[in-house]
Amino acid sequence: MNLILFGPPAAGKGTQAKRLVESRNMVQLSTGDMLRAAIASGSALGQRVAGVIQRGDLVTDEIVIALIEERLPEADASGGAIFDGFPRNIAQAKALDAMLAARGGQIDLVLRLKVDDPALMARVAGRFAESGRPDDNPESFKVRLEAYNAQTAPLLPYYREAGCLVEVDGMGSIEAVAAEIDRALAGISI
Ligand code: AMP
Repeated sequence: MNLILFGPPAAGKGTQAKRLVESRNMVQLSTGDMLRAAIASGSALGQRVAGVIQRGDLVTDEIVIALIEERLPEADASGGAIFDGFPRNIAQAKALDAMLAARGGQIDLVLRLKVDDPALMARVAGRFAESGRPDDNPESFKVRLEAYNAQTAPLLPYYREAGCLVEVDGMGSIEAVAAEIDRALAGISI
């Protein structure tokens, strides 16, 4: 099964993806984690993207599509992937559809974690100091949220039309959201 965890920054996508990896033997493909690993390694790619990420802007489609293309064979091996933070715009979504189709696959489910902007701001406000992420500060978070609303949220009609979008209330506790996700997954037969 290929699953996209969809939602704004700090919606809980990474947390829920990790739980699903443990419980369902899936691979989590997080472009944010891959980019942070590139920065930590000091690679040319890392040096290229560090400033963009720190500001909260999106890196180029070319970079993230190449990262996913590189990792997909690994995901195939275990029968599917959880895409976390990818795709973030229509061009990336179409590239992902093409990459999966080339391997005989498709996106089976897009789980949208619904959390409104004031709740996101309240959720992250206390965490900036301890997060350790250079883009977890009020200025960068605002840019990340704007990038989501302007570029990523327009993907919702794309997946709604494809018939694979399921909305989940992401405002509750980690456990409550996990239970909602499990209910959504129980509702699809793949
Ligand atoms: P995330 O951990 O998913 O919040 O991603 C952290 C940062 O990495 C984002 O704010 C972007 O700068 C960059 N990034 C991650 N995934 C993508 C993507 N699919 N497209 C563009 N930029 C991305």
